[in-house]
Amino acid sequence: MPDTYQIYYYHKQSYPAFEILNSAKSTYSECKISRKFDEFQCDVYVLLDDPQSNIIAIDWDNTFTAKPEFYASLIHTYLHAGFEPIICTLRGQDNDDINDIYKTLATNKIRVFPTDGQLKRHYMQQKGISVNLWIDDFFPCIASCDSNFIIGNGIDY
Ligand SMILES: [Mg+2]
Repeated sequence: MPDTYQIYYYHKQSYPAFEILNSAKSTYSECKISRKFDEFQCDVYVLLDDPQSNIIAIDWDNTFTAKPEFYASLIHTYLHAGFEPIICTLRGQDNDDINDIYKTLATNKIRVFPTDGQLKRHYMQQKGISVNLWIDDFFPCIASCDSNFIIGNGIDY
């Protein structure tokens, strides 16, 4: 098993946004989907929020940065399919922190939302933005663990 082996958790029924991730990751044989929540097993959480939204919120630290090549290609695939991939990160507004992200992405066409430690779902809702899929290595930073959103995604934490 390579060091980079990753397990993606996804609980809900299949939607187009998930299918794109599912086929993208199959070109990376070291990624697998698990429908069973296990905090010790799962590396990345793919949580369904609003299937009507075209926003795919990708976390930066330990998600994008864990597999930059894969995520760069995934972002292109989502763009091509008419979705809007964004980066939603707990990082602060500090310019260096955010410039670092834009530099890696090599484009300023991807919107970056730094929540500065705030719960991501609440932060985005306050901006009037609903998210289709969240892709994140750390689900407690998206919403509180007793929320319907987290529980509805099959996470009992
Ligand atoms: Mg992270």
